Parts: sequence; C-alpha cells; structure tokens
Amino acid sequence: VGRARVEASKASQAGYTLDKRCPVVVKDLRRETRFSAPPLLKDHGVVSGVSVPMMHGDKLYGVLGAHTRSYREFTESDVRFMESIANVVTAAIARIEAERGLQRYAKELEQSNKLKELFTDIMRHDLQNPISIIKGISEILQEEVSRDVLEELQIIERNADKLLRMLDNAFELAKLESLDELKVEEENLRDLMESAVAAYMPQIQEKGMKVVFQMGEEHRAMVHPSMEDVFSNLVSNAVKYGRKNTEIVVGIQDAGEDWRVYVKDRGEGIRDEFKKEIFDRFKRKSKGGVRGTGLGLAIVKRIVDLHKGRVWVEDNPGGGSIFYVQIPKKKRGHKESKIG
Ligand code: ADP
Repeated sequence: VGRARVEASKASQAGYTLDKRCPVVVKDLRRETRFSAPPLLKDHGVVSGVSVPMMHGDKLYGVLGAHTRSYREFTESDVRFMESIANVVTAAIARIEAERGLQRYAKELEQSNKLKELFTDIMRHDLQNPISIIKGISEILQEEVSRDVLEELQIIERNADKLLRMLDNAFELAKLESLDELKVEEENLRDLMESAVAAYMPQIQEKGMKVVFQMGEEHRAMVHPSMEDVFSNLVSNAVKYGRKNTEIVVGIQDAGEDWRVYVKDRGEGIRDEFKKEIFDRFKRKSKGGVRGTGLGLAIVKRIVDLHKGRVWVEDNPGGGSIFYVQIPKKKRGHKESKIG
C-alpha cells in the first residue's frame, strides 16, 4: 500500500505502541485521542486496527500492526494471535542478529590471533638476538678474565640462559593457545618417555638419581609430537624438585580407552591448596632455590587439553608427588580437560 515514516513517539499508533510496550487496539481511528493517525493510515481510510510490539527479552525490534477499512472490534484472541506472529518473527530476527554477531566476533578473534602470533614472532626474534649476544660475549670473556670477575660473568650467562628458556616457553605457550586442535599421529608413548628421560640423563646422574620404568614395550596412542614435551616437563620437574639420590618412577597404565602415564618423585611434594593452581601460568610454589619459569605445567596442561585428556597431581605415599597424564588412545571428540 505504500511507505510512510513516522516518529517513534505519540505521533502515530506504531510510535505509541513502541512507547507503551504493550498491544494497542484502535476501534475507530477518527475518534482516537491517544495518538494522531499518520497520513498513510488516513489516506487508506483505515478505521480500526491493532498493533503489538516486537520484543525479544528487553530489546524492541519494531511494531507489528493490522488495520481494517471497516469498523472492527479486535478481540483479546486477535491480540494473542498478533502477538504469536510477532514473537515468531522477532525470535527469527534475534537469531539472525546473534549469528551475525558471532560471525563478526569470530572474525575479530581470528584477526587478533593473527596479530598476537605476529607480535610473539617479533618479540621472540627481537629478544632472542640480544640475549644470545649477551650470552656469547659473557662466555668469551670467561676465558680471558681473572677469577674475581669470572663468577659475575657466570651469573650473567646463567641469567641469559634463563631468559632464553622463558622466551622459548612463552613462545610455545602462545603458539599452543591459539590452536584449536593438534594434528595427531600414532606414537609409542614408551618411545616418547624414553627420549624425554634421555634428555635429562646428565642432570639425573649429577643428582645421583635413578629412573625406574614401569611400562610395557608398546603403548600406542594417537598424539601430537608435542606429547614428548609433556613428558619432558614432568621428568624435568621430578629431577629439579626431587631430592638427591632418590628414585624417579615413570610408568604407563592401561585405563580402558586411555593410557594413564605417571611420573613419581621423592621431592617435597605439593600442598593440597596448590595442586590445581600450579597448572596456571607463572604459578611457582615451594621453589626451594630451584630455577624455573612457571610455564612448564601450563604448557603441559594446554597440550593435554588439546588431546582431550586430563592432568593432575597426587601425593606420593611416603613423600613426593605423582603427576598423572591421562590421554585417549584414539582421537576423541571435543571435551574440556579437567584437573583433578
Ligand atoms: P617451573 O618449574 O618452571 O617453576 P612449572 O610450571 O613446571 O614451572 O611448575 C610450577 C610450580 O609447581 C613449580 O614452581 C613448583 O613450585 C611446583 N612443582 C612442579 N613440579 C613439582 C614437583 N615434581 N615437585 C614439587 N613441586 C613441583
């Protein structure tokens, strides 16, 4: 019939309905006093009408109206019918709006993830170079200087090493956090554990420790190669926090659809109130002079999460801790991992 622009105020039936946020029934537009009739309705000789607000929650989307040229008394059930139509239409609009919002949000997120990746790449590169130079020069100087400055140079070198380690860990975590899924391949978990232990053999020997393997020859699972980092971090902690001349026990148990991997140490143990938070970034407890970045277990948790697995820590009877990692043998559908 045509188009008309009306103010969202008492200048029209639609405006009045919006304002009142309730159904408005007009018996005879010519005798209407609550609002004035816009030219569109007058020009078409409208006499009666009903209008209902289109609302979803608190949000107003518009007004749905029906009008007649002859006199008609719109009943309660007419109003309900109009409201039902308005509800269906409004719900559809709200759903489309929410979907668009989600799409926009996903795009923004993708963009900000890309920026974050770029930023971490730049940070890593730009920080790694100067730190490596500091480390390199302090190494060279150690061969040339007298004994009294040697110690200071060693401190510089140790701290440069620590910075490089932190940078590597932070970089790995940033990379892992922007991933939704890891590409998995079949691996024998025993092989991964053996190579994780082998990498720490010098430190293990230095502390007079012994590693005991409690596992079969084959424990096949669909995992990403980063699963070795999980085992490395746990073995590294068992070496760092375990007492001298003690045993570290590494094992794999069959848990039905999962493999349960554990690393037991004879260290100080972890108090109950810290058992969950040590898996957060930068959380460090009972350091006892041990160097660390507080990122290792956050990386462990993230990798295990991406495998839809579970990681937690328990007390080792007789002292120390047992770290457990439970991972599915086959690839599993999406599920948040839990601690404890
Ligand atoms: P880092 O060892 O670099 O500090 P992690 O994320 O690997 O960082 O560990 C976080 C904290 O959890 C450590 O600082 C330490 O307090 C505690 N922790 C981890 N592993 C052990 C362990 N095997 N025994 C005792 N405490 C541990």
